[in-house]
Amino acid sequence: MMASHLPSSYSTRPEPFVDATREQWASWHWQHQHRLRKPSDFEGILELTDDERAAFVGGAQRFRVALTPHYAALIDPRNPDCPIRRQALPRTEELRQFPFELHDPLAEETHMPVPGLTHRYPDRALLYVSHHCPVYCRHCTRKRKVSNPSTAASKGQIEAGIRYIAKTPQVRDVILSGGDPLTLSDERIDEILASLRTISHLDVIRLGTRNPVTLPQRITDGLCDVLQRHGPIYVNTHFNHPAEFCADAVQAVEKLIDAGCVLGNQMVLLRGINDDPQTVMTLNRRLLRHGCRPYYMLQCDMAQGITHFRTPLKVGLEIMDHLRGNIGGVGVPDFVVDLPGGGGKVELVPDYVVGRERSEFGEVIRFRNFQGEEYAFVDVSE
Ligand code: SF4
Repeated sequence: MMASHLPSSYSTRPEPFVDATREQWASWHWQHQHRLRKPSDFEGILELTDDERAAFVGGAQRFRVALTPHYAALIDPRNPDCPIRRQALPRTEELRQFPFELHDPLAEETHMPVPGLTHRYPDRALLYVSHHCPVYCRHCTRKRKVSNPSTAASKGQIEAGIRYIAKTPQVRDVILSGGDPLTLSDERIDEILASLRTISHLDVIRLGTRNPVTLPQRITDGLCDVLQRHGPIYVNTHFNHPAEFCADAVQAVEKLIDAGCVLGNQMVLLRGINDDPQTVMTLNRRLLRHGCRPYYMLQCDMAQGITHFRTPLKVGLEIMDHLRGNIGGVGVPDFVVDLPGGGGKVELVPDYVVGRERSEFGEVIRFRNFQGEEYAFVDVSE
């Protein structure tokens, strides 16, 4: 694999962690134990704004705050609008409520044949295996349950979900989700994957994780052994900004690939963070360089407390327009809206048709290309 020239988060570790050894920093358990959760934890790291302090009082009670030292080290402390900071530190905007916001925007809870398993599409099921995450993203669409101890997925619940999949042959594809499945121990992940691998009608096992971004130290040799043993595992990563792609993240991604995982990135389009073509282009080039395919660019859902992150749909379409033609197709993700109420994903594409006229051979359709030049294409008659 290609060597990375990006810095490690260890080299930029903030003042409170200057005594941490390289071994401590590289330990995912150490990173978990030293997560930043309350305003005083940020002393010597960054100065909280008045708004962030106020949000700690209201917002953090509704949806916890937690940052790994690794993720905190990626923040530019001089920039209150740093894209890393905005994804992890609360703002009072998240306390504002709008009547159209939904508690469960994708109706996951109403499509549960057994607790903790969402079966919405005929061939796919989502198995909720953990309510924990190393960092609680302020844009999380599952704020209603992630970080809430009352929604922890018990061993019995997960086993019941696996039994449902085993007796439902139309389910060919299972997604381990949460929270973040990689907050479970290697042993527990091994057990779950081993159980799923006994189900002969299952073609695909996917695992959605933001650990390569927020806690790349979690991608240990032991974990990779487990994933390799039960592979191929389709891993959906969640990089939202090029600044998240440090040397540690590169190493995590490359280890997963070496373990036989197939990687795709699900970026969420976020106002003020990645809502411009150049940022998405830079991120996607970086992902491709290290073997992770940009898979989805997701429109932010109508979840409660995240409306301030949403962009107009036309912003996403403009980004797609720019990507098409300026980066190869492998770097162009699907831009999707997950419809509220469990309607499922629909893909949005820019409109390239600028005119239509009839001819004796069929309809002549005038397309524009990514440079705005027009071309006529004769469609055949039915
Ligand atoms: S890692 Fe995923 S599940 Fe966890 S808080 Fe972030 S968006 Fe939500």
